Amino acid sequence: MARYVFITGGVVSSLGKGIASAALGSLLQARGYKVRLRKLDPYLNVDPGTMSPYQHGECFVTDDGAETDLDLGHYERFTGRPANRQDNITSGRIYSDIITRERRGDFLGGTVQVIPHVTDAIKEFIIAGNDDFDFVLVEIGGTVGDIEALPFFEAIRQLGNEFSPGAAVYIHLTLMPYIPSAGELKTKPTQHSVKELRSIGIQPDILLVRADRDIPESERKKLSLFCNVRPSAVIQALDVASIYDVPIAYHREGFDEEVLKAFFIQDAPQPDLSRWQDISRRVNNPEGEVTIAVVGKYTEMKDAYKSLIEALVHGGIANNVRVKIDWIGSETFEKEDPAPFLEHVHGILVPGGFGMRGTEGMIAAAGYARRRNIPYFGICFGMQMAVIEATRNLAGVAGAGSTEFGPCDEPVVGLLTEWVKGNELHRREEGGDLGGTMRLGSYTARLTPGSRIAEIYGATEIQERHRHRYEVNISYRQRLEDKGLCFAGLSPDGVLPETVELTNHPWFVGVQYHPELKSRPFEPHPLFRSFIAAAMVQSRLV
Ligand code: GLN
Repeated sequence: MARYVFITGGVVSSLGKGIASAALGSLLQARGYKVRLRKLDPYLNVDPGTMSPYQHGECFVTDDGAETDLDLGHYERFTGRPANRQDNITSGRIYSDIITRERRGDFLGGTVQVIPHVTDAIKEFIIAGNDDFDFVLVEIGGTVGDIEALPFFEAIRQLGNEFSPGAAVYIHLTLMPYIPSAGELKTKPTQHSVKELRSIGIQPDILLVRADRDIPESERKKLSLFCNVRPSAVIQALDVASIYDVPIAYHREGFDEEVLKAFFIQDAPQPDLSRWQDISRRVNNPEGEVTIAVVGKYTEMKDAYKSLIEALVHGGIANNVRVKIDWIGSETFEKEDPAPFLEHVHGILVPGGFGMRGTEGMIAAAGYARRRNIPYFGICFGMQMAVIEATRNLAGVAGAGSTEFGPCDEPVVGLLTEWVKGNELHRREEGGDLGGTMRLGSYTARLTPGSRIAEIYGATEIQERHRHRYEVNISYRQRLEDKGLCFAGLSPDGVLPETVELTNHPWFVGVQYHPELKSRPFEPHPLFRSFIAAAMVQSRLV
């Protein structure tokens, strides 16, 4: 049977619970274990697909088309295992299923309650489909004490009681703040957080304590005493330069060793951390630097671009350079000339986005990159905006636009109403639900042999993850190809443009999908590898 590690957070949010979980997963994996990571989110949305990036950050899309929490991106990047729909659940989804069953009469006249119905549904979710794994790491979103998270805490408490002894371990991630006037790191917030956890019946086995400096032995002892945790199980989690230093840093503090100890595992193989050492060395010792301008809509909210930022880092790892990102709110270019912002950069990237605000600025950025021969990478919305720019300014169709912004005379980007998935035809209904109705998940694209994109992938058939409601209108193809913007990648039925590229430009590629979701530190995505290589040429590094 799989062993379960439950990871909860205390004191404050944003302590890096997702990365800590992912790092632990990678450390257990480095010892040869099969690991799965799952995330339980207490909010009432059915999934984060309808939430604003300002609220929730990036929406991570899995191969099977689920819109999930961004922590699943960390899990994938750290373990290499593709996540799926069953790796993330929310209170919203649990309640929605229970209420549907209640309406069907499945509860046969019984009263439907949080305990046992909601907690049972959570427990079923946690334990389902884990036969092939040695360890299942389950992260609970939010912090202990959140009202909406209570059923999740109750469910993991019950599971610990139901499993055979030694089958579940509880890790609590907290913070020791440094108080300058006292010159000390303080244990009290952690003590209170553990008290809160124990009041709902959970005694943590391990405390992972974030701090900005070494935790003195005396304070560790204090935490051990007051929180009822072995002294060696108080693990300090100090800040590190890169998230890819985390597995090695936590291993050095004995984190994975303590987890194994808590499971009474004595004969665990030593971890092979060579791949992490290699990544860490590359990230921390770049041979140069390139600057990429990311011109987007949510640039004040970096979490909205989590996977994108990491994929750019991976592109840097592949080329042994540091990638510096200049964040530019696209609305800037609706008022100001892009030149002072862009003339020093080595590449311009317009990422995914929704809605009209700032789009003329993205179009201006794409035009600038096209005319000035600066490497341009348009992702999803960024491809659509580049196509609008080329339709207006290369093909001379002045009124070109997207129906996403209202009725349009020249809809070079239009609403996607029908598409094929496997052997099935998917149709969008006018006025239908917004949640879960985009073209989501992995789809095949065919690439024209000899095109730049086929050369970059070294393949003519690819699978990439999608999340879009609009599409480039294939009927403009000829007019654009005549001017050098080639539709080099198409859906297998030849109807949906998947990639475009400018033939007479050093590097100008637009893709309708999200390549950043599949990039990993050990396997940088070919498009990011190639884009950063082009930026190096632009910067005259090579
Ligand atoms: N808003 C665009 C669409 O729905 C682009 C989406 C995106 O960038 N993910 O097609």
